[in-house]
Amino acid sequence: MSEFEFDLIVIGSGPGGYVCAIRGAQLGLKVACVEYEETLGGTCLNVGCIPSKALLQSSEYYAHTLHDLAKHGVKVSNPTLDLPTMLKRKDDVVKGLTQGIQGLFKKNKVTWLKGRGSFVTANKIKVTGADGQAKEVTTKNVVIATGSKPIEIPPAKFDRKLIVSSTGALKFESVPNHLIVIGGGVIGLELGSVWMRLGAKVTVIEAMPQILTGMDSDLAKGLMKILEKEGMTFHLGTKLTETKTSKNQVTAICQKPDGSVVEITGDKMLVSVGRKANTEGLGLEQIGLTLEAQGKVPVDHHYRTPVSSVYAIGDVIKGPMLAHKAEDEGVAVAEIIVGQAGHVNYEAIPGVVYTWPEVASVGITEDKAKEQGLNVKIGKFPFLANGRAKALGNTDGFVKIIADQKTDRILGAHILGPNASELIAELAVAVEFSASAEDIARSTHAHPTLAEAIKEAALGVDKRSIHI
Ligand SMILES: Cc1cc2nc3c(=O)[nH]c(=O)nc-3n(C[C@H](O)[C@H](O)[C@H](O)COP(=O)(O)OP(=O)(O)OC[C@H]3O[C@@H](n4cnc5c(N)ncnc54)[C@H](O)[C@@H]3O)c2cc1C
Repeated sequence: MSEFEFDLIVIGSGPGGYVCAIRGAQLGLKVACVEYEETLGGTCLNVGCIPSKALLQSSEYYAHTLHDLAKHGVKVSNPTLDLPTMLKRKDDVVKGLTQGIQGLFKKNKVTWLKGRGSFVTANKIKVTGADGQAKEVTTKNVVIATGSKPIEIPPAKFDRKLIVSSTGALKFESVPNHLIVIGGGVIGLELGSVWMRLGAKVTVIEAMPQILTGMDSDLAKGLMKILEKEGMTFHLGTKLTETKTSKNQVTAICQKPDGSVVEITGDKMLVSVGRKANTEGLGLEQIGLTLEAQGKVPVDHHYRTPVSSVYAIGDVIKGPMLAHKAEDEGVAVAEIIVGQAGHVNYEAIPGVVYTWPEVASVGITEDKAKEQGLNVKIGKFPFLANGRAKALGNTDGFVKIIADQKTDRILGAHILGPNASELIAELAVAVEFSASAEDIARSTHAHPTLAEAIKEAALGVDKRSIHI
């Protein structure tokens, strides 16, 4: 019998942790997952990807009913918002999925150790329950998958009433009159979109010169134009310096790029300026593990920390803070622990913004290609010239493919448009398989589909798009 109670203890049950636990169990390891929240699934299932997408869907239906259905000849008289039902539906979606993880743990014989995990030694974890009772468990390997939490900034401390993080903005009890969003990144734009569609005035304050920093600037500019048309207001290059609150109002005092000061008053403020690695209370000092800059857990290419039996994955390590990145690392690390060749290709991780229209990207951006001095050719095709987009009545946006000038290999692809979140999968596979633009251009795409815009953009790389 092993000297250890478990082969693998995973701390944290987000998409990184629960997937790692299940994959470890599939590979024959005796696995436990430590989680202190009442439900499994981490940020993603409980207060992240899933509830935000549930609200985005519901608010999209509401906005389409109000503004678009009549154009299709569908007359709906007096549509009204039932926010409590919308919020309850979101909670039900979350509940179903988090319970699903519990079912998967049972099926795969993963033990859920309920409580907060902390290191006693590299091979001994203390699990402290909500009642303060603690027990110690021994393990051959540990994977830290404790995720991230919202960054709080000094000028706008969360009061959970007027000034909230994304978690608060998923459960406003009524539609704000004016929501001030600090940070024009993915989360700010998604949750800003939800409340704008439901009737709020939304003002976004972004310190950088463009929204969606790091994404292809064509996409960012294109999306901003569309959101502005829908009524969202943007202050770019603008820094929040101070916040004042009264009983029901919050005022953002900001510095514009020219040094002038602007004051914006609303009834709610969402601070979405990023997330930071969550390592609090893990007892890393017990095993002599020092954090990297920005508080991330240091790992090598095999997710191994400087302590050889301790690994880390997901938001708590470097790389994009995305659920699917965490999941893939979860699979890879479990395979590495049993001696297999787990691997994640960081060049082929798609990123999506679920606004309307959606934004989706994979691989290198045009700006990055220029910065790196790469010789590239670019194909671009607008949805305006796509039959399915016309039929849907959603013609905003385009597909852009960046290929190597000499080899024609697809280095990056960027979509602004309807269903971009689903369309990007084809291009993520293309990047993963090192496909050329010609490969996509010669593949038959069903007609009429939005995906034909991808084929046309691929043809456009060689200046031979047909429909434009
Ligand atoms: C509003 C919002 C929307 C998002 N939308 C998307 C999206 O559409 N697509 C996408 O890819 N990503 C999205 N994300 C990001 C995504 O949620 C994260 O990248 C993902 O959850 C990271 O997974 P993880 O497993 O690393 O950590 P997490 O999901 O953060 O899970 C960590 C878990 O560890 C637990 N934990 C922490 N410390 C301990 C401890 N000491 N003991 C026991 N348990 C502990 C926590 O309770 C938590 O359950 C969104 C995030 C937010 C906030």
